[in-house]
Amino acid sequence: MTHMNCIYDLHTHTLESDGKYTPSELIEHAIQAGIDFLAITDHDTTSGLEEAYQATTNRSIKLIAGVELSVKWQEKNFHIVGLNVDPENKILSKGLEKHRQERELRAIKIGQRLEKYGIPGAYIGAKQLAGNNAVTRNHFARFLVDRGLAKNIRDVFKHYLVKSKPGYVKTNWTSMENGIHQIKSSGGIPVLAHPLRYRLTGSWMRKLLVAFKEAEGVGLEIVTGNCTADNMHTCAGYARRYGLSGSVGSDYHGHEKEGPQLGKLKNIPDDILPVWKQW
Ligand code: AMP
Ligand code: MN
Ligand code: MN
Ligand code: MN
Repeated sequence: MTHMNCIYDLHTHTLESDGKYTPSELIEHAIQAGIDFLAITDHDTTSGLEEAYQATTNRSIKLIAGVELSVKWQEKNFHIVGLNVDPENKILSKGLEKHRQERELRAIKIGQRLEKYGIPGAYIGAKQLAGNNAVTRNHFARFLVDRGLAKNIRDVFKHYLVKSKPGYVKTNWTSMENGIHQIKSSGGIPVLAHPLRYRLTGSWMRKLLVAFKEAEGVGLEIVTGNCTADNMHTCAGYARRYGLSGSVGSDYHGHEKEGPQLGKLKNIPDDILPVWKQW
């Protein structure tokens, strides 16, 4: 098979953060989906990678060690996917550890805020859904849906978990510059995740991309799960303009009914340098 015909999916989640499947289950699904290169990019943790590696033994699929880091820039939150990282690297692993502590503090505060609003037990409920792993807003969302307080996950976010809503809590994520530094220190490639999901105006988007590039960010997610051709061309335009390489990732969480499929992704335009040529 030529390199160009390979199927890449470089943004996925497992049970180690807010995905549905264990790392080995995800590897099985990815093989079924015909994926050649899969990056597992759990939120602020690399804890699923070891099990995933084991599951690829004697299989055709290649695992790329990844992580999805939450960062702050200009008081806004962004996600940076680190690809081909070294999970053993101290600078990265210390940064991730700090974020997991931050998640725990935030989860307690979200629980308290929801309790004041008349919804008790959310912290315990979300914590149970997360098991041994760090709590994400996705776990709170699932708890609230299970309680019948919202129709679906998207609705919970809209009514409870975003800015100026009853379950919103500001989180003290590390700066974008620091996040990029942590990923690069571990030998990884920092990629700005799902650029169109932040709902930025054109001028904020340009400012963000300038800052990302100045902080030595490298790639941009040009193709995301369920993105339109228009979306892709917009992102490809940003990559050309700011000299960034292109990545391709579904952001699969295992919930096919509500979210994207694994490995069902468009090809990036020919003139964009793919991130996988950089490792
Ligand atoms: P956190 O990192 O804890 O703030 O949680 C963010 C996660 O929640 C994302 O990675 C998504 O999985 C999920 N999420 C965020 N916003 C939405 C939304 N509007 N609808 C559905 N899921 C969302
Ligand atoms: Mn998520
Ligand atoms: Mn994300
Ligand atoms: Mn993600």
